[in-house]
Order: sequence, then C-alpha cells, then structure tokens
Amino acid sequence: MSNRSHPSRSETLRDGSSDRSATSWGARRSPHASSSLCLPAEAFWRERGVHRQVVIRVGIDGLSCLGSAVPPSNLVDISLGLVAEGVTILVDGVLSAEWEGTCRRCLIEIGGLLTVPVHEMYRQDADDGLVYPITGGIIDLEPLVRDMLLTSLPLAPLCAEGCKGLCPGCGADLNHEDCACGLASARR
Ligand SMILES: [Zn+2]
Ligand SMILES: [Zn+2]
Repeated sequence: MSNRSHPSRSETLRDGSSDRSATSWGARRSPHASSSLCLPAEAFWRERGVHRQVVIRVGIDGLSCLGSAVPPSNLVDISLGLVAEGVTILVDGVLSAEWEGTCRRCLIEIGGLLTVPVHEMYRQDADDGLVYPITGGIIDLEPLVRDMLLTSLPLAPLCAEGCKGLCPGCGADLNHEDCACGLASARR
C-alpha cells in the first residue's frame, strides 16, 4: 500500500486497469475471475475496524440452474464492504447481474435483474460451513458470489404470472393464438 498519505478511512478497489487502486492491491490481470476476486486478508487485519469498499465487475462461469442462468458474458456487479472484527472479516453489500431463462409454460426467452443482498463472514481456516474460510491469507470472494447467485436464480421462471402456456396438443402459444386442435379449450 503506497498511497497512505490521503486521510480517507475507506478505499475502493475496482477491477479496471485504468484505476491505480487495483494495482496497489497487487491484483494481477488475468482472464480468470478467481484472481480478481481474491483479496489479501492481511490488509484488513492490519487496520481492524476500517471499512473497505470492493467494487468489481466480472464474468463468472457456471452460474446456471434448471430454469435460468447468468452467462459469463453478463458481467456480475459486485459491491461489497469488508471490515475486520477480531478474527472475522465481515462482508456486507449487494451483488447484481442480468439473468436469462425460459418461461416454464410458453418457453419464450425471458430475463431480468438479479439483486442479492450479502451479509456473510470469513474466518481463518473455518471449516464448519457457517462462514467462508480464509485460506493461505486469502479472502476468495468467488465461492460467496457463486453461492449467492446460484441460490437466487429463478428455478422455474414465468414470463408473466398469468402466462397461458402452450397447448399440449397443437403447440399453439395460448397467450397469442387460439388452440387449433380443441384440446386446450376442452381443458378449460
Ligand atoms: Zn410464458
Ligand atoms: Zn391445441
């Protein structure tokens, strides 16, 4: 940390080559999300109680569930405040990303903005599953980001609450056209 002369008690880390604060953290430029999401815990323990804001925009692989996904091309906005309290690093903030999926009834492509609040903790060598581990002095935010987004993705999204779906007989999209085979109308 070379720029300790300014009086601010909080710092911002951005994932961008034009931002000097990113290099002051020793962040390496890498195509992998994992390296930009790894922070040295030492920096937090050195100044306990000091909040640091971490702002990163990154694509993450493998964010998909049965009905929807955040493709890696849809960048995840990570805005988290980290602070050391005793042996724990508290992490609070919000994640957001555009999800894409398919309406479970009419099968059209749909999507929306996923916004996930974060209130989690990291602790040295934690293995109880309740907090995230700090391993080798590194706070790896990727497992947290991945868990939070995966559990927030819609499993069975709908284009609208009242979506009428497709006729199982003729395949007509009943939101926009009449059933041609009589099956859908017979079921009503
Ligand atoms: Zn639909
Ligand atoms: Zn039909």
